[in-house]
Amino acid sequence: MPLYDYVCESCESEYEARHGFDAPAPVCPECGSAQVHRVITRAPSALKGMLANVGSGGKASSEELQSKWAEETPKLRKKLVEKLGEDTVNRHAPSLNHNYD
Ligand SMILES: [Zn+2]
Repeated sequence: MPLYDYVCESCESEYEARHGFDAPAPVCPECGSAQVHRVITRAPSALKGMLANVGSGGKASSEELQSKWAEETPKLRKKLVEKLGEDTVNRHAPSLNHNYD
């Protein structure tokens, strides 16, 4: 069920309520008023999902990506050196010399 944010029009307290899409707005938990309105203060759920992934899972995959990159880069560089020569690679692709340790 989606989580909604509400603001009470009587006491202006903000609260969250989880309920079905077409269910009536829940009354204010502070004063019991039914005069409440929904507010959109949250990040879109897709963004929230991304932020949630910044935790341990996201970090692990970014480290994986980095180690993969570190593994592939010397191979790529070697190929370029074979084709273009050491000087050209140093001049035009200095990022390939980056040390990822
Ligand atoms: Zn209230």
